[in-house]
Amino acid sequence: MAQGIKGLRTIRDFDINDKVVFLRLDLNVPLDSGKITDDTRIKASLPTIQYAMEKGAKLVIASHLGRPKAAGDKKYSMDPVAVRLAELLNCEVILVDDLRSDATKSLLKGLKKNQIIVLENLRYEPGETENSEEFAQHLASFAQVYINDAFGASHRAHASIDALPRGMKYKGIGFLIEKEIKMLDMLMEKAPRPYIAVMGGAKVSDKIDVIERLMDVVDGIVIGGAMAYTFLKARGVPVGKSLVENDKLGYAKEMMARMEARNKSFLLPVDHMVTGDIASNEGEYTNTDSISDNRMGVDIGPATIRHYTKAISEAKTVFWNGPMGIFETPAYSKGTFAIAKALAESNALKIVGGGDSAAAAEASGFADKMTHISTGGGASLEYLQGLKLPGIEAVRPPKTSEGLA
Ligand code: AMP
Repeated sequence: MAQGIKGLRTIRDFDINDKVVFLRLDLNVPLDSGKITDDTRIKASLPTIQYAMEKGAKLVIASHLGRPKAAGDKKYSMDPVAVRLAELLNCEVILVDDLRSDATKSLLKGLKKNQIIVLENLRYEPGETENSEEFAQHLASFAQVYINDAFGASHRAHASIDALPRGMKYKGIGFLIEKEIKMLDMLMEKAPRPYIAVMGGAKVSDKIDVIERLMDVVDGIVIGGAMAYTFLKARGVPVGKSLVENDKLGYAKEMMARMEARNKSFLLPVDHMVTGDIASNEGEYTNTDSISDNRMGVDIGPATIRHYTKAISEAKTVFWNGPMGIFETPAYSKGTFAIAKALAESNALKIVGGGDSAAAAEASGFADKMTHISTGGGASLEYLQGLKLPGIEAVRPPKTSEGLA
């Protein structure tokens, strides 16, 4: 049987007509008082669901949602997700409340063409996060084929991601994971040059491992966000009250020296938006890279925006991870949105690593101009670091198995 990307099978590789497919999705959408505030993850899952329905599969869809404290914590019910899926797919969605009951099996017997089953929040069951074999076997008993399309959850060794597919013979990935892997592999293996990484966000320490891997493949790194102040301080630039990781100054210095030795560019802000009080939602621009003692940096300044925009316009590949400032506060969002605009206007391959950068791209209004926005923040960074993701490893086909006839 053909094995595509990284030796993995995709949903295309199975004859799923009339078979029960357990589809693990990442439908972990943000909710506000029971209302979905962003359905990106649901929409990103539709191609695999629609394909499976067209091919005549009987679908059992499962996901986690938030971090419920106990089973039945209504705040984290999959109910709004099931309602939204029914609207988007124009089909009947049956929500199974009790993960342990036999209801799923009975429903599957009479399931009609235009019906799909959605299980309640997997995290209602402690066995999910404990990677329980017993819970996994219970879930496995519903289905003949397992498909993982939950990229955003694939870095977690939880029962529906790890133990469940390990115990199954017919398993593979959906279209979303396939695209994520293709895009992230392209970044590490065959990115068109020049290739730059635009890194921002709160902490250097969170990003060291990924920076280390990227350093080998990129031509330059552009730094913004609070991370920039640790690098600036390491260069001896005064940064006032800005967030600095003092225990990472040594790393920052050494890393910049390595970039220079390899002739790779490394850009830091040359001006900033600063404030004496973040809560004020007010600030002023500096006209140098230094920040006075009673001020903290909250965004990149206009000259920095010009430099970074130029660097982006000259690149053929850009990987963007992390906002350039406290973008959640309107007064400090200009730098981040300007970067999103620069990416939108560039013809480069532009890949946004999930989490806050995906939220920033959405908030900027330029999300649809990106080549790819990863649906998994943690998972995409771990993948780029070269770590093996449990959810990908667990769906590797057993060596001797045949395709599902
Ligand atoms: P990360 O998850 O590491 O990408 O960090 C994202 C967070 O970094 C966002 O919540 C931003 O508000 C925060 N951030 C970005 N720039 C700054 C800054 N200059 N000072 C404090 N926090 C920042």
